[in-house]
Amino acid sequence: MANDHKKFQAIISHCKEYGFIFPSSEIYDGLSAVYDYGQWGSELKKNIKDYWWKSMTQLHENIVGIDAAIFMHPTTWKASGHVDNFSDPMIDNKDSKKRYRVDHLIESFADELEAKGDTEKAKSLLEKMDKLIAASDFNGLKELIENNKIRCSVGGTSNWTDVRQFNLMFSTQLGSVTEEANEIYLRPETAQGIFVNFLNVQKTGRMKIPFGIAQIGKAFRNEIVARQFIFRMREFEQMEMQFFIRPGTQKEWYEFWKKERLKWHLSLGTEKEKYRFHDHVKLAHYADAACDIEYDFPIGFKEVEGIHSRTDFDLRNHQEYSKKKMQYFDNDLDATGKPYGNYIPYVIETSIGLDRMFLLIISNAYAEEDLSTPDKQDSRTVLKIPPILAPVKLGILPLVRKDGLPEIARQIMDDCKNAFRCFYEEKDTIGKRYRRMDAIGTPFCITVDHQTKEDNTVTIRYRDSMKQERIPIHTIKSIVDKQIS
Ligand code: ATP
Repeated sequence: MANDHKKFQAIISHCKEYGFIFPSSEIYDGLSAVYDYGQWGSELKKNIKDYWWKSMTQLHENIVGIDAAIFMHPTTWKASGHVDNFSDPMIDNKDSKKRYRVDHLIESFADELEAKGDTEKAKSLLEKMDKLIAASDFNGLKELIENNKIRCSVGGTSNWTDVRQFNLMFSTQLGSVTEEANEIYLRPETAQGIFVNFLNVQKTGRMKIPFGIAQIGKAFRNEIVARQFIFRMREFEQMEMQFFIRPGTQKEWYEFWKKERLKWHLSLGTEKEKYRFHDHVKLAHYADAACDIEYDFPIGFKEVEGIHSRTDFDLRNHQEYSKKKMQYFDNDLDATGKPYGNYIPYVIETSIGLDRMFLLIISNAYAEEDLSTPDKQDSRTVLKIPPILAPVKLGILPLVRKDGLPEIARQIMDDCKNAFRCFYEEKDTIGKRYRRMDAIGTPFCITVDHQTKEDNTVTIRYRDSMKQERIPIHTIKSIVDKQIS
């Protein structure tokens, strides 16, 4: 497992320096665990969304998309179990005033035990913790922390408060007059917008089970500890798909979506060894099976996507709370020749964090390369982002700012900019301009030089290999198009 703190810090600085990610409202010193995407970050994020959306909806005939509102009727969150269950146990160190999520505090202590070779003790500690969390035994959790002499990572003391439950949902007021206003929540997941629209989509789209509904949108969680850059944010985006199936078929569809989603990740060219599945032992209140797809981030293997077999928990509860039938009539025939009839569908969910996927792409792409030769020291920082996701596809660079070269370069820009994102630049030496394009992950650059005027060819430079070759101007578009489609 990699745990490369230095690389992680370098990535954070790179994201800021090259216009990918800025701390939110930075001129006021930022807002904890909230970030803004800059000029290249917003392009990369949009490309990741498009890649997911196309693979889910366009390439699966039985999946359609929706875009539900962030505000939802407050009863939604009663029915979904979030009002009662969407909380984490937390604890504060009285001396340092540092707040911890209890499971994170115990898990990092277990990691230390494991690093010291005390694997059995670490395992038994985690098993005890899982049982206590499942039983909401807060006194037991505090005793576990104290008995193991777990200390605060800042002050080093073990002077702890009691363990308390902390609901992660943000609430606000809907309505203009305070006395009449209703308390509502900012959605902590996009999934419920899909469940409450299940009947609308099924009926108007004449959808036949099995079918899926996909959605991309913002979610909000008041995370207790949020200090891993965009890995854990308080405002983030999810790309979720709920797949509605016949009860009893959940095992096979769960396995199907595990495979399908890993295939999607690998289609972006990431090595298989960087991924692993983590099956959940401790299941969420709605699930009968669940796993995470984990990626080997510079901060270690961590969850990027969850796949959950959610049973009929959500639809059944919405039926109960709304008093509206959430049923589907299945006229396919069973083994005895009778229609399956009415039932509440079961659901398999795939839920990926857009921001975590962004961090994954950047972490996987980031490289510092030593290019020194015997006579010259040289290096570069390059983002080897898959061309289909790269913020800019083609850098267009006239060698010099005279002799008619900018005019030819501008003409190429005009011919290509409708097809894909291009970036025109004529300032600084060509070497510096290549480095800037490398740093934002531009997979191709073309240079217009004096020979262009004679034979209508340009130099194309490939980001990853840094190889250069001469190609006719009229082939630029098709070469780039082929690589990004
Ligand atoms: P974690 O255990 O890391 O808190 P989770 O299991 O609560 O995550 P889910 O509720 O399954 O996460 O949400 C699905 C996906 O949404 C996660 O796999 C992750 O990619 C993303 N996600 C969840 N919480 C956050 C967050 N605070 N910031 C960024 N992305 C998040």
